[in-house]
Amino acid sequence: MHDPEYFDQGDLVAVLTTQPLDRLLDYKAPEGGCFRGAFVEVPLGPRKVMGVVWGPGQGDFDRSRIRSVIRVLDVAPMRDEMRVFLGRAADYTLTPMSMMLRLATRTPGLGDPQSMRKVYRLGEGEPDRQTDARRRVLEVLREYGGLSFTLRELADMAGVTPTVVKGLVKQGVVREEDSPRDLPYPHLDPDLPSKDLSDDQATAAETLRAGLQSQKYGTTLLKGVTGSGKTEVYLEAVAECLRLGKQALVLLPEIALTAEFLTRIEARFGARPAEWHSGVTMTERRRVWRMVGQGDAQVVVGARSSLFLPFRHLGLIIVDEEHDTSYKQEDGVTYNARDMAVLRAAMCGARVVLASATPSLESWANADAGKYDKIELTSRFGPSVMPEMRTIDMRAESMPASTWISPTLRQAVEDRRAKGEQSLLFINRRGYAPVTICRACGHQIGCDNCDARMVEHRFLKRLMCHQCGETKPMPDKCPSCEVEGKLAPVGPGIERLAEEALEAFPDARIVTLSSDMFGSARALKAKIEEIAEGEADIIIGTQLVAKGHNFPNLTLVGVIDADLGLQGSDLRAAERTFQLMRQVAGRAGRAEKPGQALLQTFQPEHPVIRAILSGDENGFWSAEAAERQAAGVPPYGRMAGIVLSGPDVAAVFDLGNALARNDGPLRQIGAQVFGPAPAPIARIRGRHRVRLLVKADKGAPIQDAIARWIAPLRLTGDLRLSVDIDPQSF
Ligand code: ADP
Ligand code: ZN
Repeated sequence: MHDPEYFDQGDLVAVLTTQPLDRLLDYKAPEGGCFRGAFVEVPLGPRKVMGVVWGPGQGDFDRSRIRSVIRVLDVAPMRDEMRVFLGRAADYTLTPMSMMLRLATRTPGLGDPQSMRKVYRLGEGEPDRQTDARRRVLEVLREYGGLSFTLRELADMAGVTPTVVKGLVKQGVVREEDSPRDLPYPHLDPDLPSKDLSDDQATAAETLRAGLQSQKYGTTLLKGVTGSGKTEVYLEAVAECLRLGKQALVLLPEIALTAEFLTRIEARFGARPAEWHSGVTMTERRRVWRMVGQGDAQVVVGARSSLFLPFRHLGLIIVDEEHDTSYKQEDGVTYNARDMAVLRAAMCGARVVLASATPSLESWANADAGKYDKIELTSRFGPSVMPEMRTIDMRAESMPASTWISPTLRQAVEDRRAKGEQSLLFINRRGYAPVTICRACGHQIGCDNCDARMVEHRFLKRLMCHQCGETKPMPDKCPSCEVEGKLAPVGPGIERLAEEALEAFPDARIVTLSSDMFGSARALKAKIEEIAEGEADIIIGTQLVAKGHNFPNLTLVGVIDADLGLQGSDLRAAERTFQLMRQVAGRAGRAEKPGQALLQTFQPEHPVIRAILSGDENGFWSAEAAERQAAGVPPYGRMAGIVLSGPDVAAVFDLGNALARNDGPLRQIGAQVFGPAPAPIARIRGRHRVRLLVKADKGAPIQDAIARWIAPLRLTGDLRLSVDIDPQSF
C-alpha cells in the first residue's frame, strides 16, 4: 500500500503507542499536519499517551468518532529504517510492537513535552509553610547543588506530585527556567595520529576500511587472542566511519570496562564519546538521545540498549567480546544484542564488526558459511606470546580441607613474587561461600522467593540471592532446626579465597576485585589503575577481571576451579568454559615477560580441559560443531523457549501441558516440542516457571509457527508467557 511521508491536518494516521495493545490506533493528523514517524501525544480513553505515526490510518469505523493527535513532540521523527528495524526485531523475538517502541523511546521527558522545555533549580528563601513533601524537594535540589531537573525528574526523585514543585515555584523557592540547549559533544577527530600498526593489524584495518567505503551492509568477525590489538584495529574502522561523516556505535558487555575504554577513545580521537548505559544520569541520557537523533553524537559507547537509539546516519556497529553472554538478557524483551546489531545494520546499510578472542559458535558458523567475513590476528601485538598453559591435577595435591590453593599453585605464586611479578587467582564465584549449611540438621539456607541458595557475602555482612537480589542478615541459628552456632560455609567464593590467600601469603599485597566491593565504576577504575601501576602482588578476581584489563606486570594466572563450568547438562557448557578459560589465561604475560596459566582441575583428561590447554581452537570448534549438528541444535537447528510463569505451580503446569497437547502449528513445520519442564531457574521472586522447548530445522519458520501456536492461549489471572528465541541454555 502507498505509504505517504506527510499527512495533512485531518488525514487519518495510524499511531503505535507504548501501551500494551496489539494494534495501531487511528487518529486525525493535528493542525499543521505531521510526518510519518513523528513522535506524538494522543488521547487514549481519559489519558494522554506517547506514540509514533506509523502510517496511514485504516478508518475502518466511524470516522467522526476518531480523535485528533494532541500535539507533535519537538524531536526528529523516527526514521523509516528504525521503524522497519523495530518491526523486524518484533517479528524475530515475537515481542509486541509496543514493547519494542518502549525500548526505542527510553529517554526521560520524551512523552512529556512540557517538562522538556522547563527545568527546575534551587531558588531563594524558605517556603511560607514547611511540609514533608516540600522539604524533600528542597533536599533533592540542595543535594545536587547547581543541577537542574525536569518537573518529572524532580517530582520522582523527591517522591512528590508535580503540584508540590509548582507550589514552590510560585513562592520563588524553586526556580523555573527554560531548558538550555543541549550542550554539543566535543568533536572527535579521526585524523589524529594512530598507533603504528603491525603488518597484520594494518591489513585488518585496511579490510575494515574498504568495507566501510562500500557503504553497504556487511558483518566481519574480527578474531584474535587477547592482546592481539583488535581494539586498535577496530578504532581505525571507527575513524574511517567518522571520515565518511557517519556515526559509530561501540557495544561493550561490561559497564565496568567503559572507563578504561573511554580513555582509549579520547587518546585516539582527542575527545570523549557519548555514553549510554544504566549508570548515565537522566539529563545526560536525554542529551544523548537527542544528539544521536540529530547526528551530532559521532560515537556512542554503550550497553546493548544503545542499539535502539535513533541514529541519524549509523555507519558502523562494533560488538566487542561478541561471545559474551551478557549480550543476551531479559529486558522486558528477550533479545541478543549481537543478533540485533546485525539486523540493525542490515536495515541501514551499516557495517558490523564482531570482535572476540573466543567467538561464539554461532558467529563461527556464520563465518564458516560465508555469511560473515573473517579477519584473524594470529599473534599478540609486539613480542609477547600466549601464556604457557598447564593443569594442576587436584587429585594428586595434598592439602587441608576447606582450602583451595594447592601447594603447586602456591609455589608458583611465590616464584612470581620473588621476581617482583604479579599473580591473578581466578574464581568465578561472588561472595564468601556458595552454600551455607547447618551442621546439626543438614539444612541449606535458600531464598524464600526463588529456587536458589542464599550466598553468604561477608563483605556486605548478609546472605544474598543471586537470582533476585534479595538479601537478609546471616541468622544466628538454623532456620530449620533452630540449633545455634552450627551454620557453616561450604565451598569457596571470592571472599573466602581472599581470606585463604591472606593466610597463605601474609606479607603480600593482595587486592580483591569483585563487583560487590565497588560502589561505583570510578572506584573500580581507580583500583584497576593501582594494580596496573604495580601496587599489588596478588589479585583475586571474578569474571570481572577476565575482560579487557591490561596488567603489564601480571605473569601468572591460577584458575582455582577449572571444572566449575563443566558441571550441569547445558549443551553450551563446553563452549562457555573454553571461552572463559582462554580469556582468563590471556591475562597473563605481556611484552617481554612470558606468562603462565595454571588450571586446578580434578579431571585433567576431560576433552574440554585438554582443548583449553592445547589451544587447538579449530579442533575444539569442529568437535563442538559436529556434536551440535548431530543434536540438531543451534547454530545448526532452531530453538525457542516458551516460559510460563505464575504463583500457582499446578496452574502453570496445566497451561504448559495444554500447550504441549495442541501443537498442531508446530507439527506443520516439522518442529518438535519438549516439556513442560521446570525452567532452568524454576522459581524467581515467588513465581513458578516452566519451560517448553521448541526445536526445528534450520530453515523452518519457527516464529510464525509459534505465533499461531500461542495465539489461542488466554492468560488468566496472574499467568504470564514469554518467548525466548535462541535460548542460551538448552
Ligand atoms: P585486544 O583488543 O585484542 O585485546 P588491544 O587492542 O587492547 O588488544 O591491544 C593490547 C595492548 O597492546 C594495548 O595496550 C594496546 O594499546 C597495545 N597495542 C596494540 N596494538 C598496538 C600498536 N600497533 N602499537 C602500540 N601498541 C599497541
Ligand atoms: Zn531469590
